[in-house]
Amino acid sequence: MELYNSATHRVAEFETHTPGRVEMYTCGPTVYHFAHIGNLRSYIMEDVLEKYLRYIGYDVNRVMNITDVGHLTSDADEGEDKMVKGAKREHKSVMEIAQFYTDAFFSDCEKLNIKRPDVVQPATGLIDDYIKIVSELVDTGRAYLAGGNVYFDTSKLGKYYVFNDHDTEDLAVGVREGVEEDTNKNNKNDFVLWFTKSKFEDQALKWESPWGLGYPGWHIECSGISMKYNGEYLDLHCGGIDNAFPHHTNEIAQSESFLGHPWCKQWFHVHHLNTADGKMSKSKGEFLTVSLLEEKGYDPLAYRLFCLQSHYRRNLVFSWENLDNAAETYRKLIQKIANLQPNGEISNVPDQAAFDALKEKFCKGLDHDLNTSLAITALYDTLKYATDDQTKLAAIADFDRVLGLKLIEKAAKKRDAAKNASTTGGYTIVCEDGEEDAEVTALILQRYEAKKAKNFAEADRIRDELAAKGVELKDAKDGVTWKRA
Ligand code: AMP
Ligand code: ZN
Repeated sequence: MELYNSATHRVAEFETHTPGRVEMYTCGPTVYHFAHIGNLRSYIMEDVLEKYLRYIGYDVNRVMNITDVGHLTSDADEGEDKMVKGAKREHKSVMEIAQFYTDAFFSDCEKLNIKRPDVVQPATGLIDDYIKIVSELVDTGRAYLAGGNVYFDTSKLGKYYVFNDHDTEDLAVGVREGVEEDTNKNNKNDFVLWFTKSKFEDQALKWESPWGLGYPGWHIECSGISMKYNGEYLDLHCGGIDNAFPHHTNEIAQSESFLGHPWCKQWFHVHHLNTADGKMSKSKGEFLTVSLLEEKGYDPLAYRLFCLQSHYRRNLVFSWENLDNAAETYRKLIQKIANLQPNGEISNVPDQAAFDALKEKFCKGLDHDLNTSLAITALYDTLKYATDDQTKLAAIADFDRVLGLKLIEKAAKKRDAAKNASTTGGYTIVCEDGEEDAEVTALILQRYEAKKAKNFAEADRIRDELAAKGVELKDAKDGVTWKRA
């Protein structure tokens, strides 16, 4: 497989330290608020990458941190820790906030069919490991104490900027939202490894260290967590493009200085999801979440498809219209698959030659820098291919191990629902989960009669009555689909 490597600025064959094994690390979420769908674009694309690596035979060990501590707003002696800010906003403790939003993050991931990493490590759980790394860096003269904090000394590095092919706009957003400069530093790019000074008066979490009571800086967690669970050699490091500088640049500086050898071969950065008026942000107040998509009636997997339709190294613009298009594409795709006639087990392949040809096409796209839109095209080619339905279904099921769109499952549901449809005078009632209910059917028909008689108040009343029973209706042209909430 070929991948673009942000560290070498080239597309090249993906290689690992140990053949057949991938040590993969992903920067996890900062759990002071819900993840927005921009954050989740990064996790969707990383999930496809992980699934594809497994699909082509790699044994993957994927590790993710949860940022539940750290100085997150400012390098200076002012500003506010994001976790503390979140806790204040919700009148909860920092750890309660962290737990709540960690759970919310994984619930969003589940809805988007993003696999949970093999190891998930909250940053607060490995403080001793960070202290060990920082101590070593201080002892070897790679770090210094100033103004009460421990700083990494970037002047000792041969090369600091690794990902310097980003455009100015990327560099401008490279610093986490609202980060300010610190006057204690010897060099502009030096960064904090450990805070000992009470930077924020109400900093909630502090630990004993050789430099006094304090807390870690905001880059060290990823080096410490990765070294613990991935070992000294990392094969693949992922994150959103805004993480490239300074976060990943600083991770490399401190990790390689500590280890004394090159650390990570391959850097995979997902470009941003933006709105028409610019960058998506958690701190702007109103932002787009998976729950909001659901409230508006979208299947989260339609958003996953929306992401897969474009390349991860391109900025993607979100609009409701674009999402509507993806949702419609997804609906039609499921319908086409539902129209195929299965013949035995899904893994049954009557026409092996056709299956292999389709698979080759599918892999060709993904092998070239994870071109997911070509992989989606291969899916459509499969539907059109001149072979039997069962071979098509087997191929689609196989590709969906990577795409993660639950195509077979959803199509089977649709097929069952069609079997359960009852048609009265051209009006079709479909029960989505297949378990019909005579009372619900009767109410739906009453509503239909009320609408025909233009008695919309009565129709709305019946809809509310059904909603109170936990029944959700989706009107279609010639009928209605319903499901239990
Ligand atoms: P955070 O929770 O802020 O630490 O971010 C979690 C992940 O989302 C990181 O990998 C970020 O680089 C990534 N990210 C942040 N904003 C966006 C965006 N608008 N589009 C895609 N990825 C993003
Ligand atoms: Zn990180």
